[in-house]
Amino acid sequence: MNLVDNSIQAVRGMNDLLPDVIELWQHVESAARDILHAYGYREIRVPLVEKTELFARSIGHVTDIVEKEMYSFEDRSGDSLTLRPEGTAGCVRAAIENGLLHNQVQRFWYAGPMFRHERPQKGRYRQFHQIGVEAFGMQGPDIDAELILMSCRLWEALGLRELTLEINSLGTPESRTRYRKVLIDYLTEYRDQLDADSLRRLEHNPLRVLDSKDPAMRDIINRAPNMFDYLDDGARAHFEELQSYLNEAQVSYVVNPRLVRGLDYYTHAVFEWTTDKLGAQSAICAGGRFDGLVEQLGGKPTPAAGFAIGMERLAELVSLVGLPDIDSAPHVYMVLPGSLAEHRGMRLAETLRSSGLRVLCNCGGGSMKSQMKRADKSAARFALILGDEECAQGKVTFKNLRISGPQELIDQSSVVEHIQKRLQ
Ligand code: ATP
Ligand code: MG
Repeated sequence: MNLVDNSIQAVRGMNDLLPDVIELWQHVESAARDILHAYGYREIRVPLVEKTELFARSIGHVTDIVEKEMYSFEDRSGDSLTLRPEGTAGCVRAAIENGLLHNQVQRFWYAGPMFRHERPQKGRYRQFHQIGVEAFGMQGPDIDAELILMSCRLWEALGLRELTLEINSLGTPESRTRYRKVLIDYLTEYRDQLDADSLRRLEHNPLRVLDSKDPAMRDIINRAPNMFDYLDDGARAHFEELQSYLNEAQVSYVVNPRLVRGLDYYTHAVFEWTTDKLGAQSAICAGGRFDGLVEQLGGKPTPAAGFAIGMERLAELVSLVGLPDIDSAPHVYMVLPGSLAEHRGMRLAETLRSSGLRVLCNCGGGSMKSQMKRADKSAARFALILGDEECAQGKVTFKNLRISGPQELIDQSSVVEHIQKRLQ
């Protein structure tokens, strides 16, 4: 039987992240973690699976995610559960359930996989990862500005320039209701030109028509009435103050009145960071304010704002602009021909690791020649060779694998010092 034909493959759109890629991801994640902590955000981890109703109620029934992208299933007790398609709903649920929102200000961040049954393509997967933040209990545009400045600082730390920031205001629920009416009237005029999705949204959620990705809809969308003209004074003032924060911090942005975001729960300021370097899937970070969501999910009215970064797209972008040297190669490869050497070598390796060195032991035996080959392949800087003779004398042979030169016979007791000198 052919083994390959019989092998099981990963689920379409769900990727393995192999060690070479993980190093890049860890670099991005650790930069993000440092920055989030510098702004006082604390990590929260919530389950990957929640009741389906949580997402339906928060994201909105008439959205791409809830209508056609969720991985929902009945568990063995007959409950309808869903693999989380995004992080905000679970985070809000957890905050309410654990009493974290009573008269308190909270700043949380999370990271992990999300699941959406989309058409897999470059930058769009069925299991993908987000780093997200949510801030609760702060009403003013200052917190919106903080979120944007925090994301700016991350791009800077990762060496990313030339990202575009788009912002918009979706206003208050009242101003949205007014705009909704005007938009329905406008779109109804073009009823016969709307695609099937847009027609359905026209009934239940007309703002989402503005978010259509169908190029045939672009013209109609571009000529639609402008949401700004329907904002009330409060929403306008909020949005203007956010802009003055951004101006003071010299953050460039574009106001895009068509930016509506794919989830229903947003109000007031929304924003999106895009790049022109990744092709069609250009958004790497998106967020905004969602003042109604906590109450919608059964909590007390609580203002809130947040964003989520798409890790796959961000990591791809970082790899395009060039990575800093990530040095995770071993410092030392232990070449251990013979069983006495294997035992002594294992102990010596522990001593080296205790002094902070990364050490790879040759496990599984092999001739001197084949072990030296493995040492070369391991990308280690140095080899330590422990043959029978070295064992008998309490010595070890030191060889620089990257620079040619004579091997040196050194005392086992001075090996740490010897290596550290050469690492400087
Ligand atoms: P898009 O318009 O690209 O579908 P979205 O509005 O659905 O994005 P959000 O739900 O706001 O995306 O998620 C925030 C970020 O997560 C996006 O900007 C993107 O970088 C990333 N993202 C969303 N869906 C996917 C996916 N299926 N695969 C990879 N990354 C994704
Ligand atoms: Mg989407």
